[in-house]
Amino acid sequence: MPPEYTRPGTTLRESTMAELLTLGIDVGSTTSKCVILRDGAELVASSLIPAGTGTSGPSRALTSALEEAGLKREQLHAVTATGYGRNGFEGADHIVSELSCHALGAAALMPGVRTVVDIGGQDAKVLHVSSEGKLESFLMNDKCAAGTGRFLEVMARILELDVSELAEMDEKATGRVNISSTCTVFAESEVISQLAKNVDLHDLVAGIHASVAVRTAGLVRRLGITRPVGMTGGVARNAGVVRALEKELGTDIAVSPMAQLAGAFGAAVYGWNKKRSELN
Ligand code: ADP
Repeated sequence: MPPEYTRPGTTLRESTMAELLTLGIDVGSTTSKCVILRDGAELVASSLIPAGTGTSGPSRALTSALEEAGLKREQLHAVTATGYGRNGFEGADHIVSELSCHALGAAALMPGVRTVVDIGGQDAKVLHVSSEGKLESFLMNDKCAAGTGRFLEVMARILELDVSELAEMDEKATGRVNISSTCTVFAESEVISQLAKNVDLHDLVAGIHASVAVRTAGLVRRLGITRPVGMTGGVARNAGVVRALEKELGTDIAVSPMAQLAGAFGAAVYGWNKKRSELN
């Protein structure tokens, strides 16, 4: 069993330091996430708005996190933007790649993980990270919707489900309907034809998850597996995909309850590191 990661980032805390408040914002393709940390470790507030780059999502996520923390923007020591839409976010002190932030966030949320699988709304990445959260190497699929959150959203829509309902459907599956197409558009037709045959919906969802797992496992194997393995990104909230990937890779996968916030968490840690080195 993977270790349980329920207390985010506590290992990074340095109680001797003056209090620093840093905010990380992850402007994603589908969702905007914010995390405010005290001293680079202690969670003060977070927000998650299901609207991504080019929408009001980023500013709503910022406002919501500040309100939850009872803080004003001026009280923050650093604001760090990451994610697909990071360059369009105004008012950031630092703009940092999502790879670096996911590595930092994963190391803080799941101390010790060495391989991180991040599946977001429109891409999938596999990272090797050092024990300090430094990115060592990575591979990314951002060319094709298959194996990303987008694939799951398309399939959920055909099944008249929300993505948040997929894991529960999968749990009740007794078999698996094989989805052979690797392309999202062809897989969509395949799922529609399976529906026409009245196959069991639970087994169909299990087949959809297996298809994501097979694709992701290919990416993981190309980079190589260094254990322990952890998963970040919104798709990590889908326990069906996590289970299917564990089976495909033959290894346990750790997931933090804050998996979707990992990039924002890492961005807040990055801002803290920067501020701390400026002060030293
Ligand atoms: P991005 O940063 O590109 O916006 P995220 O890492 O936020 O992507 O992940 C978005 C994806 O997470 C969605 O496409 C969806 O598939 C998945 N997702 C979001 N919320 C849930 C949930 N409650 N249960 C399962 N999957 C979810």
